[in-house]
Amino acid sequence: MRQRAARDQQRLDSGAVTSPKDLEHLQSEIVSLARRQGDLEEVVLEIMERNEAARERVADLTDRVASVQTKVDDAAGRRSAATDEIDAEVERVRKEREVVAGSVPAELLALYDKLRAQQGGVGAAKLYQRRCEGCRLELNITELNEIRAAAADEVLRCENCRRILVRTADSGL
Ligand SMILES: [Zn+2]
Repeated sequence: MRQRAARDQQRLDSGAVTSPKDLEHLQSEIVSLARRQGDLEEVVLEIMERNEAARERVADLTDRVASVQTKVDDAAGRRSAATDEIDAEVERVRKEREVVAGSVPAELLALYDKLRAQQGGVGAAKLYQRRCEGCRLELNITELNEIRAAAADEVLRCENCRRILVRTADSGL
């Protein structure tokens, strides 16, 4: 279009076109072409502006994705560290239990394991201030008297939950 306008202008300037009608026609074509060029330049400008805005948005979103990814990586790292810690703790407790279990008579250990399976993972409970720490029920006077009379190495059971009762200095006996 620009070429065509230039060609028209050249023809006009050269003086080759002499008829008034042709001259008028040529001039009006030049004006019309200039107007259309102006319109197209506006469209190009608008497209460039929109393109720039889109680029900025892409850059912004890319930054945000990177920021979220950093947080995800950080959380994954912390989760992994926590898992390692828990695994180590499980292993430590398992070894401790092995040592303790080795010192408990086989029959008592079998009873404890059976009760533990039946009672939600707790096979033995402390007798604390006359209360069974397993089921939280207070023992009655008869039960307490029986416990008081029992030998120190006798295996005692809670009458309510059947767990093994462990006597301590805080048992309230
Ligand atoms: Zn109990």
